Amino acid sequence: MQISSLFGPDKVVFSFEVFPPKKNSPIDTIYTTLDYLKDLQPDFISVTYGAGGNAADTSTCDIASTILNKYGIVPLAHLTCVNYTSREIDQILDILKEKGIKNILALRGDRNPNLPPKKEFSYAGELITYIKKRGDFYISAACYPEGHVDSENLDQDIMYLKQKVDAGAEHLISQLFFDNSYFYNFLEKARKAGIHVPVQAGIMPVINKSQIERMVTLCGASLPPKFVKMMQRFEHSPEAIREAGIAYAVDQIVDLVSHGVDGIHLYTMNNPYVAGRISESIRGIIKA
Ligand code: FAD
Repeated sequence: MQISSLFGPDKVVFSFEVFPPKKNSPIDTIYTTLDYLKDLQPDFISVTYGAGGNAADTSTCDIASTILNKYGIVPLAHLTCVNYTSREIDQILDILKEKGIKNILALRGDRNPNLPPKKEFSYAGELITYIKKRGDFYISAACYPEGHVDSENLDQDIMYLKQKVDAGAEHLISQLFFDNSYFYNFLEKARKAGIHVPVQAGIMPVINKSQIERMVTLCGASLPPKFVKMMQRFEHSPEAIREAGIAYAVDQIVDLVSHGVDGIHLYTMNNPYVAGRISESIRGIIKA
């Protein structure tokens, strides 16, 4: 199933993102999470890929394969390129093809100061062109409502985004954001720039303060005063901050759906409880 074909004028596509367990955690933890997530009936589940340069790590492919073959849900396998050679990318593509995985989120990946890039791929657009030549896959790509941290400004970032779409990306998923006005501004500019593929809004519920501090350092998302006040008020109570974080994410989603968003991609952080609470709260809204 081609992910871009899930979208339509009367449908808000709802999906989850999970990540392979960290090195020291047992692989089974992800399967417990998936057991729960499948009951929430997402349109697809995406699985992140490490930018670490270890092509022998097939955990993304294995988890995506389980999503497809055990749960019958469409998987979207992330794939980064900056730390891989074309030969290594071919090996990964061969595994994905063999497992019947058709949809790839093609990414550059973050440059790692401790790992010299392999030089064959510098940008996601090059990976998209490379994968498209094989003809076996449908491609999704990332976009940034506030502009990517490396880009000079949003207009320049959108110009390169258009190149990714022209190269073959049929669907976009946004970086997380906490102020919907950035997403609306971005979308207006992207449409004016001739980008007409479906754009899903990436929503990350706050689970604790350190998670947000880490994310904001990595991706530079702005924190609106309402959000900062919420964090300050509840940061000392894990339960209160989780509840407030769920309410904030639901509020963002209601506003996005009211504005006619194509879809919502929930960064679950492998936390089935939070994903479940949000899914329950918005079920009637996204189906309306
Ligand atoms: P690109 O589209 O290549 O853009 C990177 C920067 O280069 C931007 O500033 C852009 O404006 C600029 N640029 C693009 N093309 C050109 C060009 N031709 N010439 C000059 N400049 C150019 N990381 C992981 O490691 N694993 C994951 O699984 C993962 N999943 C993600 C999922 C989503 C939805 C998002 C939003 C991000 C994800 N990331 C992941 C993070 C991502 O790898 C980083 O944000 C990375 O720094 C950029 O990746 P990209 O594919 O957007 O890069």
